Amino acid sequence: MKQSVLFPKTRKEAPKDAESINHKLLVKAGFIDQLMAGSWTLLPLGFRVVAKINQIIREEINAIGGQEMLMPLLHPKEIWNETGRWDKADEVMYKLTDSRKKEFALSFTHEEIVMDLLRKNITSYQDLPVAIYHFSTKFRNELRAKSGILRGREFMMKDLYSAHTSEEDLMDYYEKVKSAYSKIFTRLGFNFKIVKASGGVFTDKFTHEFQVLSDAGEDTIYWKEGDKEAVNEEIMEGDKNDYKSAKSIEVGNIFPLGTWYAERMRFYYMDNMGKKKPVWFGSYGIGSTRVMGTLVEVFHDDNGIIWPKEVSPFDIHLVGLNGPHSAEAPRGKKVYEMLTKAGVEVLWDDRDIPAGEKFADADLIGVPVRLVVSDKTGDKIEWKERTSSESKLLSFDEVIKLLDR
Ligand code: ATP
Ligand code: MG
Repeated sequence: MKQSVLFPKTRKEAPKDAESINHKLLVKAGFIDQLMAGSWTLLPLGFRVVAKINQIIREEINAIGGQEMLMPLLHPKEIWNETGRWDKADEVMYKLTDSRKKEFALSFTHEEIVMDLLRKNITSYQDLPVAIYHFSTKFRNELRAKSGILRGREFMMKDLYSAHTSEEDLMDYYEKVKSAYSKIFTRLGFNFKIVKASGGVFTDKFTHEFQVLSDAGEDTIYWKEGDKEAVNEEIMEGDKNDYKSAKSIEVGNIFPLGTWYAERMRFYYMDNMGKKKPVWFGSYGIGSTRVMGTLVEVFHDDNGIIWPKEVSPFDIHLVGLNGPHSAEAPRGKKVYEMLTKAGVEVLWDDRDIPAGEKFADADLIGVPVRLVVSDKTGDKIEWKERTSSESKLLSFDEVIKLLDR
């Protein structure tokens, strides 16, 4: 991608009303744009990052048998009424009435809709278990939407749902999701804790949140030295002084929902003795746009963002230090074309602007490796990592080798 045509250009200043680091940096660097409070466009750079986050999630969820699909976001009132959540979840739901006076809600989650889908298609124990998921927009009437893209009124979530013939099978799968989530957040480079928390909208069982340690977090979690799991503030027992604590951002949440939904929505299966039994159900969410914001909160410095390799919008930020009219310009183009041909994703700064501005933009955008081609580098290429102040001169082949291609 040529930076001269990349939309939009970076900005010199963060928006005046921006309070959080992710808001400031993501807007300045041209990853997101705010339409109104809690509502964001993923610009080309931001869209690439979220696509990479989603790909990591997809690989790990597919590995535990999840089947990807896509569900509608406009939901009829009748289905939400079956569990009583049309009224109970009134505060978060955006509701609307069409010209025929029919009532709908915009999706804030999908449990009821998935239940309806499953009961139309599943009759026997032989059809179970099943695990289905999608990536889609969620709408929530969030009263406070001040943390940049961490809290949207419209945001992207991966939600997975599983249905089972027994509590044992549900809890077995629940543990598989827990380890898949641990792999996802480890691949993203997060320092996170698995946190025991209170139930979802209705459950009386515990749920588990995945919390990334960060001062930008709205949650506080507590754990005892050496303990694997932490606990959320809401379920803290005993003396706080006996615990370690930290601020944290919730990036994922998993819910064992039992037979609560099946009983209310009359979703039964026939067991191997021909007896009708309610289906066991679980749901599992990760907010992928919140994950992008969290990455910025934990991986940045004074000059800008520092993307982990796996989710960076590009593998390489190639900076040509000669204007398009210089004799050296063809070399930048050549390196760009050779890298692209080798399957490397390159953002090539081909603009006719001062070197200082190019370097400042490269630091702000945060691609982990910067390459420079200029008359000083000769037939070599300068390699510099975003986290280091040292650089080295390499041949093209050495660059490819370091990139592991
Ligand atoms: P919070 O406590 O932060 O309001 P929640 O517990 O209501 O979140 P869940 O219903 O558990 O959220 O949703 C699953 C995941 O979706 C969360 O772990 C988070 O990553 C993401 N998420 C929830 N609300 C938002 C939001 N308003 N903006 C962006 N992501 C969100
Ligand atoms: Mg939650």
